[in-house]
Amino acid sequence: MRTNYEVVVIGGGIIGCSIAYYLAEAQMDVAVFDGGQIGNKTTKAAAGMLGAHSESDGDFSLFFPFARSSQAEYIRLKDELYELSGMDIGYRTGGILKLAFSERDKSNLDPLVKQPTVDWLDYETVKKMQPEISDTVIGAAYIADDVNVIPTSTCLAFAKSAQMLGASIFENCPVYDIKKNGNEYTVKTDNGEVRAKHIVLATGVYSNSLFQNLGISEKLKPVKGESIIVHHDKPFLEHTLFYEKSYIVPRNNGKVVIGATMIEDDWSDSISLQSVEVLLKHAKTMLPSSINWKIDSFTSGLRPTTFDGHPFIGRHPEDEQIFIACGHFRNGILLAPATGKMIRNLILKQEVNKEWIDAFRINRQEKVMI
Ligand SMILES: Cc1cc2nc3c(=O)[nH]c(=O)nc-3n(C[C@H](O)[C@H](O)[C@H](O)COP(=O)(O)OP(=O)(O)OC[C@H]3O[C@@H](n4cnc5c(N)ncnc54)[C@H](O)[C@@H]3O)c2cc1C
Repeated sequence: MRTNYEVVVIGGGIIGCSIAYYLAEAQMDVAVFDGGQIGNKTTKAAAGMLGAHSESDGDFSLFFPFARSSQAEYIRLKDELYELSGMDIGYRTGGILKLAFSERDKSNLDPLVKQPTVDWLDYETVKKMQPEISDTVIGAAYIADDVNVIPTSTCLAFAKSAQMLGASIFENCPVYDIKKNGNEYTVKTDNGEVRAKHIVLATGVYSNSLFQNLGISEKLKPVKGESIIVHHDKPFLEHTLFYEKSYIVPRNNGKVVIGATMIEDDWSDSISLQSVEVLLKHAKTMLPSSINWKIDSFTSGLRPTTFDGHPFIGRHPEDEQIFIACGHFRNGILLAPATGKMIRNLILKQEVNKEWIDAFRINRQEKVMI
């Protein structure tokens, strides 16, 4: 193992791998260290929706333009990553149908439907688009741009592409300490020490001990999500179905994700029968015939959550050479490209949207809602 890099990225989930990719593309000398295998923690459990609209919860101020820029970046990335890595990220068009079953559901969708990129579809149109949807639906907001990808494939494609551009990737190599020595850092890993000019923390929900190590008092909390993966024997589901916080996501690999629970402060990765029952109930509400699908597997993961639900992306408050990119909650797959570009630009001292710097800095005020 070499012992000196310009940038060490700690954490090889989708966020760390995207950052490594953008840095390697800018010809920076970068190494990624992951305590386990690349993409094998929260990233592995994600459904993979690029839900810029559907996750905005009626607030189209700061999160939305950041998320839209990331979503747009994927259009270019899907080909670029394939060319470099030979890996298909499973980019699937078809968009999201956000369903309404009552007038109240419909009025809750009003702010979304006001967006020029969203259409309101009545019952007949929805049934024509997807005939198996429940007869009790009254309409849906249709978001063609909220496409989806396969998270593990995307993460591995970022990692492999970064390697092709010169980055080093180390798996099963946890980092347990970071020390400053003059103008650089010594990073202590299970495989020995390495030195770096810049450090990026992309450790997802597992960031708290390194935060403490670096004098950061913020803490991340988990919101566990459990999902059922089923086989899509006769592919008939064209669009992601979404109702409240539940969804059915058809993937490009012949599987469908039925997700996901939201369990706060649970650090375990167990999956309960009660959760499976809830997921099935929600799936049946949207698509009664889903009960006939065959189970492939169950997954769970811990969404990394900050005090206000938005990520920490930016510089350490007191150290110019340490960068944080953690806490992407429900949207790490969506936000990976925008996060990677933002961290690259901060390291290279290139222009970054000031509103995004303020909105995502780790020492923002609790009361600032974005
Ligand atoms: C059920 C579910 C559904 C989801 N659906 C979506 C979705 O549809 N769309 C979307 O955009 N997002 C979705 N998400 C959210 C998304 O999965 C996360 O926001 C994203 O995966 C976070 O990525 P990350 O790289 O920050 O974290 P992780 O994937 O957890 O990666 C962090 C990495 O850091 C490593 N690490 C930690 N500590 C150390 C250390 N000390 N040394 C070395 N390595 C270390 C870990 O091994 C891990 O690999 C979903 C999440 C869940 C749970």
